[in-house]
Order: sequence, then structure tokens, then C-alpha cells
Amino acid sequence: MQTPEPTVGTLRVVFAGIELGGTKIICLVGTGPDGVVDERRIETRDPETTLADVRAFLEPHDVDAVGIASFGPVELRPGHASYGHITRTTKPGWSQTDVIRGVLGDRRVPVGFETDVNGAALGEGRWGAAAGLRSFLYLTVGTGIGGGAVSNGQLVGGLGHTELGHVPVPRHPDDALPGVCPFHGDCFEGLASGPAFQARLGRRLEDADEEQRALALELAAWYIGAGLRGFVYSFAPERIVLGGGVASLPGLLDAVLVRLRDELAGYPGLPEHLEDAFVCAPALGGRAGSLGALVIAEAALRGPRD
Ligand code: ZN
Repeated sequence: MQTPEPTVGTLRVVFAGIELGGTKIICLVGTGPDGVVDERRIETRDPETTLADVRAFLEPHDVDAVGIASFGPVELRPGHASYGHITRTTKPGWSQTDVIRGVLGDRRVPVGFETDVNGAALGEGRWGAAAGLRSFLYLTVGTGIGGGAVSNGQLVGGLGHTELGHVPVPRHPDDALPGVCPFHGDCFEGLASGPAFQARLGRRLEDADEEQRALALELAAWYIGAGLRGFVYSFAPERIVLGGGVASLPGLLDAVLVRLRDELAGYPGLPEHLEDAFVCAPALGGRAGSLGALVIAEAALRGPRD
């Protein structure tokens, strides 16, 4: 889709978007999907080495603002002593990492900071599967489960950020897995993430045989359908963009649509909930988060909104 290049007044501006993931960092410089001028993928190692590589990527670029979409949990409240930090993570070495400082170094430009999934939501909302919608949800079901909710054009957040992977879901009657979440055991992520399926199957989902795949499909659709029911009723999204490794299982999207219809049970009877496009795959692929970080940068340049 062609979108106008961002400007402030009549000046053309360029942004850096950094998506910080647990296994890789995607760095972009540009204005959008059709205006990427430089891009690099960096393996996530210890914070010092990894963030030094990000700074080295940015070094030759004169950007007007930087947007960061980071794995977390993170502190998003400007003015808080830990703003811009990853606060408490199970990823070794990364707790209390000052990500903003690590990315910017001595550079003085406006910077915006969000969760990785909020970034992906913003990317899909600007250029992808939720383009043009005011209220929608982006959910990824993979190594972990996380999501970003946009309501009337604004990300949902406040004290902390949404943790859509840690909501409770009803257990499938044939499922005895205690759950793999280190905090809650059998929360949504504890039952439906990639590691949960690996714990059930004794092997990675990608390596499962046909019978195991059928079981995984049934369980994944059950749990995702239950999770989505909660989000449909809480956030009233116009569409749900569903991504991630588990969500990309062949046949899963259709199975989730069927399951969600059963979960909603005709209530409140909105025909939009029954449309196939109500739950759809992401359109930006692996670039959703980094492109969304460009949107975060643009918002940082425009300054806080009232
Ligand atoms: Zn949990």
C-alpha cells in the first residue's frame, strides 16, 4: 500500500525502528515498508555486546527520531526512574537493562519506547492487516504469547502494559499438562505457547508426527479460541491479527475461527464476529515489530498528545 512519506511541515524526515527480541534484533532506517534505506538483523547476546552492535548500525545514519519495540517486561511510564528499561526478565543478563540508553548512546534525538507486541500492533495498524481500523488486537502465539490492543487509535496501557499471554483460560478436558509458565503454571501462555506443546509432545511442534499435529491443532484452537473470547469481550476489537509460530500451524486459523464462534455462542450476535476476516494472519511478516517501531519514532517526534 502506498502511504505518504512522513513530514514535519514540508521537511521530509527519516526514522530508525529497532525491534528488540529475545533471539534477534531487527533494525530499520526509513519511512515505511516502501521506504527502508537500511536494515540489519543482529543476534541477541548479552546486553552490552548486542546494544553496541545496534549503535554501530545506527552510527552512519542521521535520523530524526528513534522508536524501540522491546521484549519485556519493560517500564513504559515516562518520568519513572526505570523508564526505558527491561525490568525483570527470565532472559539471563537482561534484567534492569537500560535499553534507551543502550540504543542511543550519546545521540540526542526524540525516542519512543514500547513493548515488542505493541510495536507489531502499530505496524500492522499502519501498513498491514489492520490498516485503517481504529480498534484492533495483535496477538502472537509462539515461543511466548503476547499481544497489543489498540482502542480508538491508542494503545491500551496504563500501570504496566497488557500481558495478554498471562490471562487464565479454561483447561481442555483431555489436557493434563500442568502448564509451563514459571509464574502461573497453566495460564494462556503456560498451556498454548510453543514450549507447552514441546512439553506435551516431547519434541518441538515443527517435528511432530501427523497424530501429534492433530492433537496440537485441537488444543491450540481450544486455548486460542478461549483467549480470544476474553479479548473480544474486553477490548471490542474490529479485527484480531493472529501471528507467531504456533498460530501458523496449517489449518489453525480456520480451527480458531470455528472455536471462537463456539466460544461466543451467538452473544452478542454481531455478524462481524462471524466473518472469516475477523481473525486473520499478519500482513507484514517478520517486519511488523520493526516497522511498528518507525510508527513509535514518528509519535516521539510529534511529542506527547493530550
Ligand atoms: Zn503466566
